[in-house]
Amino acid sequence: MNTDKNTLAYAQQLDQNDPLAAMREHFAIPKQPDGTDEYYFTGNSLGLQPKLARAAVIELLDAWQKRGVKGHFEGEFPWLPYHEFLTEQAAELVGALPKEVVMMNSLTANLHFMMASFYQPTEQRAKILIEDHAFPSDHYAVESQLKHHNKNVDDNLLLWAPRANEELLNYDDLWQLIEQHGDEIALILLPGVQYYTGQVLDMARITEIAHAKGIKVGFDLAHAAGNIELSLHQWQVDFACWCSYKYLNSGAGSVAGCFVHQRHVENTELNRFAGWWGHDKSSRFKMENNFKAIPSAEGWQLSNPPVLSLAAVRGSFDTITLAGGMPALRKKSLLLTDYLIELLSAQLGDKIRIITPKNAAERGCQLSLMVNDTGIDGKAMFNALEAKGVTTDWREPNVIRVAPVPLYNSFQDIYHFVSILKECL
Ligand SMILES: *Cc1c(COP(=O)(O)O)cnc(C)c1O
Repeated sequence: MNTDKNTLAYAQQLDQNDPLAAMREHFAIPKQPDGTDEYYFTGNSLGLQPKLARAAVIELLDAWQKRGVKGHFEGEFPWLPYHEFLTEQAAELVGALPKEVVMMNSLTANLHFMMASFYQPTEQRAKILIEDHAFPSDHYAVESQLKHHNKNVDDNLLLWAPRANEELLNYDDLWQLIEQHGDEIALILLPGVQYYTGQVLDMARITEIAHAKGIKVGFDLAHAAGNIELSLHQWQVDFACWCSYKYLNSGAGSVAGCFVHQRHVENTELNRFAGWWGHDKSSRFKMENNFKAIPSAEGWQLSNPPVLSLAAVRGSFDTITLAGGMPALRKKSLLLTDYLIELLSAQLGDKIRIITPKNAAERGCQLSLMVNDTGIDGKAMFNALEAKGVTTDWREPNVIRVAPVPLYNSFQDIYHFVSILKECL
């Protein structure tokens, strides 16, 4: 046993002992010009293609070619109930009951549909609280909801910001905002994992404290789904939305996920923007005009879904199931990212600052590395990494995000990343 962590032999040993090492074979890994695998660390932005996703999409194209309209009803995976084939796995991924989840639409669209139900401002309670550095799409969505309800944005948008010269969100500040404005806040919408810093928020505690003040709570899980373990049902979260193309590897713009808690799905009178796919299945095709919501998250569906994209989701979910689901992925993820932290600290501790929290409960797989502090040109370094086959992701003003993904990244990938990074500095 080699005990020096800073050696390739050590990384090779870790790979040999990794029960998920063979999962990499289930993915298409992009190649460098010389034909060797890229060091791909952007699964937080676009997950790699699972071979099963490709197969499921081709199978669907074949069914369409062969069956035409009859594909809605025929074959092993008919299109009419296609989204239902994904429900159980989607529920497991986010810790929900099957009736609480549905794969539909895209992420930002789902945020709006959820706000149509869960942001219903009154004279007294009209504010929405988000984080100051929310993903722009979420910020735009929230602002436009306020405007849609004729609410002044300056007066009704509360921002939870990190303190001066800090990157991470501090809970004391949130509790204080809730304490101070609790009776006026209608909705809190926060990320499960902050996209820029990789900070995991304590969703259970936030929900509990907000609910005590009568505030609805929704989470954007774009960077959490497929990354960390979630228990949305148990945490009593009102709603959540996530995309499927980051850690869920279903292809750019693929169909997103949506969670609505049991206590709300059973309330079919709850206000919503309705469409025929949310209508009671047994009478949907009677084509009558009285909307009857399905008493599950499916009751928020609008259209018959893009089944080609759902097929990609199916292949991706099957790949995750094959790996043993989130408990197995998270177990490896912690080891992978721990190894990255160890190598960075040992070899580059003076040049690179990790802004992501280091303790396991407060991070997923991603580390956000700040490089400008010591006068290094971060953007130039990012470009140099690319030239050496390392794909990371650059976020203005000065952060490189690195996401080792347990499904297809290896410990050797991490060893090589740190070695190449050192050369580039
Ligand atoms: C990736 C991401 C989005 C992207 O939204 P789409 O509607 O899928 O284009 C939105 N919000 C967050 C927090 C994200 O990480």
